[in-house]
Amino acid sequence: MFIKIYNAYIIDPFTNKEGIADIFIDDGIISKVKFKRKITPIALSLQPSVSILEIDASGLYVFPGLIDMHTHLREPGYEYKETIRTGTLAAVRGGFTSVCCMANTNPVNDNPEVTYYILAKAKEEGSCDVYPIGAITKGLKGEELSEMAMLREAGCVAFSDDGMPVMNSLIMRRALEYSKAVGAPIISHCEDLSLSEDGVMNEGKLSFYLGLKGIPKASEEVMVSRDVILSKHFKTSVHIAHVSTKGSVEIIKKAKEEGVSVTAETCPHYFTLTEEAVSGYNTNAKVNPPLRSEEDREAIKNALSDGIIDVIATDHAPHHIDEKKVPFQEALNGISGLETAFAISLKLVHDKILNLRKLIEKLTLNPSKILNLKKEGIKEGAQGDLILVDINKNWTVKKDKFVSLGKNTPFDGWKLKGKVLFTVKGKKIFDMRDQ
Ligand SMILES: [Zn+2]
Repeated sequence: MFIKIYNAYIIDPFTNKEGIADIFIDDGIISKVKFKRKITPIALSLQPSVSILEIDASGLYVFPGLIDMHTHLREPGYEYKETIRTGTLAAVRGGFTSVCCMANTNPVNDNPEVTYYILAKAKEEGSCDVYPIGAITKGLKGEELSEMAMLREAGCVAFSDDGMPVMNSLIMRRALEYSKAVGAPIISHCEDLSLSEDGVMNEGKLSFYLGLKGIPKASEEVMVSRDVILSKHFKTSVHIAHVSTKGSVEIIKKAKEEGVSVTAETCPHYFTLTEEAVSGYNTNAKVNPPLRSEEDREAIKNALSDGIIDVIATDHAPHHIDEKKVPFQEALNGISGLETAFAISLKLVHDKILNLRKLIEKLTLNPSKILNLKKEGIKEGAQGDLILVDINKNWTVKKDKFVSLGKNTPFDGWKLKGKVLFTVKGKKIFDMRDQ
């Protein structure tokens, strides 16, 4: 199969190139990228034939395939929530051509057998690249380190007990040191469980009003501080997962100014929603860390703009409907995010918080660098790994149309601006124009 993409506006942080170009992909490999000056009128036509696919992409953008460094694929063990097949289909539908899957599967990805299983299954049934993240501790129990070197060797690109914090500081110290030795970062779920108690939403006036037990911001910030301090003292790197509070942003900012090797991510829901979304006991807005206040939301947006937060990740956490259709206190945490993350993030561009280039960096180059994924971007000889996007196309989120098995989203019915029309991943091309 030969793919020709004409007149697309490329923004590629990997090659540092930007402009209108024609792209030629031959049997899954980019054979030519030809930049030009001419701007042709907006049009989109597609003429598929047996062996040639031609896309006139005038008026569209081409970006490298997006990388989600924080996804839950649920396989092995929770295939009723999501499988590697459905999760990676949801990924490409949302513009992600690489996903990094967290270790809280069943069995936990704390030994190479599980890593090999995930990689084999992804190769067989996956629509995009899957990079497993190994557990920091055996069984995510926080007690005994997993075989990190073996996990790295097997193909894990990072280590995380995501969902569960590593409460013991000595174990965290050792994990940081080992992760440095094996060349894959720790992704830290920052939460002090003793402060969270059995909280289910942000602690504040609203939790009091709703009669729900709150999780204070301090629960996150205490652990962000600890991890930054450990990273500073023992000269290691640490990546802070799903930052949700203004205080965490301030701690990370100060650490970066001091030269500590800390990077951070947030998720679309933390810069889009506030705790108000759980009013009415909406379990689809129940996440961990919880949605916070307007002040926090503003701080997260500013941190993205200032470069204090390096990455936008989805924390795609699909659940079965029966796990959300229960009283708020009992509902599981998480949002099915792969299919809406990019369009929601584009709002930052439409609202002039970020320029398009910076947004794409946070969704491609920065996660690739942090995880050492060695992505090449849109250049000759590289694998065809890109998306075609109409950043102005209006569409409505319909959870029933998600290909993810997880329909748990607080964004159902939202009108969004900007849509991925095609995802090219090697020899595969996904056409989402009619979806
Ligand atoms: Zn997560």
